[in-house]
Amino acid sequence: MALMRRQSLVKFDAPLCETIVETPKPQGNEVLVRIERCGLCHSDLHIQDGYADLGGGKRLDTTRGMTLPFTLGHEIAGVVEDVGPDVSNDLIGAKKAVFPWIGCGQCRDCLTGDENLCLKQRFLGVSIDGGFASHVLVPDAKYLLDYDPLPVNQAATLMCSGVTAYGALKRLVDRPRQRNLLLIGLGGVGMMGLSFAQAMFTQKISVADVNPAAREAALKNGAAIAYDPSEGDIAKRIGQPRAARAVARACATNPVAVAIPCHRVVRGDGALGGYRWGIQRKQKLLALEKKGSVSKSG
Ligand SMILES: [Zn+2]
Ligand SMILES: [Zn+2]
Repeated sequence: MALMRRQSLVKFDAPLCETIVETPKPQGNEVLVRIERCGLCHSDLHIQDGYADLGGGKRLDTTRGMTLPFTLGHEIAGVVEDVGPDVSNDLIGAKKAVFPWIGCGQCRDCLTGDENLCLKQRFLGVSIDGGFASHVLVPDAKYLLDYDPLPVNQAATLMCSGVTAYGALKRLVDRPRQRNLLLIGLGGVGMMGLSFAQAMFTQKISVADVNPAAREAALKNGAAIAYDPSEGDIAKRIGQPRAARAVARACATNPVAVAIPCHRVVRGDGALGGYRWGIQRKQKLLALEKKGSVSKSG
């Protein structure tokens, strides 16, 4: 009997704990992936805490519907180790990134390719066991993405923080009137956004974050201007009332979002990054990365 190891959430607001279980045997279209890399997302920490701090004393309960022990981790890349009887054996040994935002596969959203919007979600590491383990069982081979020639670390993180930033920027890039771009928050998502923005936009990119080290890193990686939202004259310095208001609001209502992995990307009326994008967008993102047009700052 082959065994697999997991770093499981066994209690909220407590360290993960190793659990050892029988390695699942893939059925039907399922695929067993041996994990090579699994990124740590801030959402993992919110789930581990049992809540997300929304600022102003508000909390979002992240314990609902979860059965422990549970395996977190949704930024996964690895090697196909075994496949179900309905999947070609040729896939065994292939290096793949794993699309984690998996739906029921039956509803209208799933059938139109928007599984990330499905109400009966099977999100890896969020609603079914994920990648903080030696192996992960993926419900269907269609959720595997080629990432060669990208490095495996980069491929894994593109599955969440990458697509979060890319998704927000994609909403803005096709607008006919291009104005200045300001990225609020320079955590993993914000730095990814800075990297993608330079490949997707021609205008100079401004950033804002309360952390001086993050601002410095952004300036080294291509940001034209880095604002400190805690400065008193921030509105005057930014010069654009809407953008300045957005920075102030993000700072006042959600200091965590500004300080760590803010999902906000603002330009004009702005766009909020959403990390649960459909698989087609992941494929476009991988194609963009493979072209080598994106710097490695993320
Ligand atoms: Zn994530
Ligand atoms: Zn569905």
